Amino acid sequence: MSNLFVTDRTRALRPSIQAYLDEHILPNELAWLKQPFGELESMLRTHKKAMQNLGIWNLYHGADHGGPELSLTEVAQVGETLGQTVFGLFLCNAQAPDAGNLELLLKYANPRLQKRFVAPMLAGEMRSCFGMTEPDLAGSNPVRMHTTAVRDGDTYVINGRKWFTTGADGASVCIVMAITNPEAEKPHQRASMIVVPTDTVGFLRERNISIMGHEGSGWLSHAEVSLKDVRVPVSNRLGGEGKGFLLAQERLGPGRIHHCMRWIGMAERSFQLMVDRAASRELSDGVMLGDKQMVQTWIAESRAEIDASRLLVLHTAHAIETEGAKAARDQISIIKFTVAGMLNRVVDRAIQVHGGLGVTDDTILSFLYREERAARIYDGTDETHKASLARRILRAAKR
Ligand SMILES: Cc1cc2nc3c(=O)[nH]c(=O)nc-3n(C[C@H](O)[C@H](O)[C@H](O)COP(=O)(O)OP(=O)(O)OC[C@H]3O[C@@H](n4cnc5c(N)ncnc54)[C@H](O)[C@@H]3O)c2cc1C
Repeated sequence: MSNLFVTDRTRALRPSIQAYLDEHILPNELAWLKQPFGELESMLRTHKKAMQNLGIWNLYHGADHGGPELSLTEVAQVGETLGQTVFGLFLCNAQAPDAGNLELLLKYANPRLQKRFVAPMLAGEMRSCFGMTEPDLAGSNPVRMHTTAVRDGDTYVINGRKWFTTGADGASVCIVMAITNPEAEKPHQRASMIVVPTDTVGFLRERNISIMGHEGSGWLSHAEVSLKDVRVPVSNRLGGEGKGFLLAQERLGPGRIHHCMRWIGMAERSFQLMVDRAASRELSDGVMLGDKQMVQTWIAESRAEIDASRLLVLHTAHAIETEGAKAARDQISIIKFTVAGMLNRVVDRAIQVHGGLGVTDDTILSFLYREERAARIYDGTDETHKASLARRILRAAKR
């Protein structure tokens, strides 16, 4: 890890997080991943409390919400340490999609919703989900949407179907994106974000979608959800009518830093497993796997790609802090596809070095491969980020 952007706070926090993960979390992770999430959740509360006692709680918030007031570059560094384990950010109440949802609710929800959802979410006692993507329409162009919210007096009546609603299983509330202004001239001015408690009549979690043979459960799952004549007060809308995509933009800059640094944590973990295996696996008398140049190339390339990714992300976090997310949008696109691609390559190499063991569930690698193949798809597909970056570059060249 480079010393760039290291502060007294990250210098103090990261070793204590690492020590806690090494002692209590990493040795248990594989066994926990074989259990239904509902069974884990109460046991994880003990570890959440311990993280809170270490001062690592509500990472993205200030002291008024029980957080450590970290800057974005500091959050990025702490996020990398936590990203080594699937449970890291969850234990600090900083996991997606709750972290982004909490920011929206804190800023835009009315006092009734704040009391019902925000206070328990800040305490880590309640989870939420975010329903935007629909099975029948291309999610990479999300302005096209079938879900509607039609006014009936002071009520919205919502109908539609969502999928890949992460963590809907066990969530108490869903922020649903729905068309409220079909007549608006610009497609991105037609949708609003509406808070739907998951116990509302007509809100149904149809299934957890099976991902490469695994349905998952609880926070570690992605659901298909239907909304049939779901009625909620108009005051459950976040922000102005038709402003849904404007609000969605707000989540994106800092949110992408969180994802990218978590991915770097996973890549470091995979890298370490790859190196340990290459150094310890004997191919023939006295000849180790790591003696082979092909394996050395994977190790060297992985080291370089992880280090380069980290610098890019820290640089982007710094740019967001100093210039704002809009000015840093090229860098934000660049880190998304660079780090997601890097993670996929590093995990794949680590699996290859492990041979058959790599595809078993005896190491964390198969879980990372299965879950994080999607890093190139969610949070904006890599291709849409590349396309919009290239378009901006070409537009500037024409001036
Ligand atoms: C693990 C996971 C978790 C998710 N969590 C959530 C969630 O909590 N809430 C939610 O609302 N959604 C969630 N999503 C959905 C996610 O946002 C969409 O999958 C994503 O936006 C892509 O949409 P799509 O799947 O419909 O793919 P499509 O839009 O059908 O795109 C298919 C492929 O087309 C290519 N493509 C797209 N645009 C272009 C272009 N301009 N140029 C070239 N190629 C292009 C890309 O390679 C893309 O992978 C999640 C998805 C996954 C996989």
